[in-house]
Amino acid sequence: MKAPKYLVGSVEEALSYGANALMVYTGAPQNTRRSPIEKLQVEKAQALMMEHGIPMERMIVHAPYLINLANAAKKEVSDLATSFLESEVQRTHEIGAKYIVVHPGSFTTTDLDTGLNQVIAQLNSLKDIPDGIMILLETMAGKGSEVGYDFAQLAYIIDHLDLKEHFGVCLDTCHINDAGYDLNDFDVILDEFDQTVGLDRLRVVHLNDSKNEKGARKDRHANIGLGTIGFEALYNVASNPRIEHVVKILETPYINKKAPYAIEIDMLQNKQFDSSRLLALEQ
Ligand code: FE
Ligand code: FE
Ligand code: ZN
Repeated sequence: MKAPKYLVGSVEEALSYGANALMVYTGAPQNTRRSPIEKLQVEKAQALMMEHGIPMERMIVHAPYLINLANAAKKEVSDLATSFLESEVQRTHEIGAKYIVVHPGSFTTTDLDTGLNQVIAQLNSLKDIPDGIMILLETMAGKGSEVGYDFAQLAYIIDHLDLKEHFGVCLDTCHINDAGYDLNDFDVILDEFDQTVGLDRLRVVHLNDSKNEKGARKDRHANIGLGTIGFEALYNVASNPRIEHVVKILETPYINKKAPYAIEIDMLQNKQFDSSRLLALEQ
């Protein structure tokens, strides 16, 4: 959420919510301008994480949204995406993190298969992925011409990668709901994931409610329990023993410019939903 010099601030902010994980951007998510990583701030952030018993694998990096690896229509766009992703992967390594989440992209004026094959070609052109780093492809809502909105598509991409050991998946609950998956039975979803991608590749979950009905292909996040997925189903994702070790990240919207995360974390930890606690932020 903050530039590298604010890495310490991001850790402090996450701790203030009672979080045991956090997601950061190495710069503004909307552009590719990056300032050099300040070593001191990185060391301070790492020390703060350690002090609170949070391993660095729980600091997740998110690549900027404008990376479009699926754009076969404008190859210069996907080439730019690849070279920028390469530098983001390096920065993830410099920060001491392990996971970087990236959206597979949109096929624009081509078609789904062309888009998927473009993602494969671009990811296979990444030259140097440092040891221990994993690039996580995020499940998408299927809005517009997005690719990667079902598990079979992500499995297809990963199957065709040369450096498979460096790739995994980030599952976003809002996105898969909007893509048509029924979150009322998360074990069925995990079974399908296991049969396609393989459960060992699931490393991060984005825990969000959705403003839209299942299958709407919209991608608008709602606060935990205030959307169409509901508290019970999201609690069952957060507490599912099969993905106990998987890092969970909230990407829910601010309410009246106030962060809802402390309340959402507390409600999930105590399995007690109270919408009035979130709605009170509107005041
Ligand atoms: Fe994302
Ligand atoms: Fe997400
Ligand atoms: Zn989203």
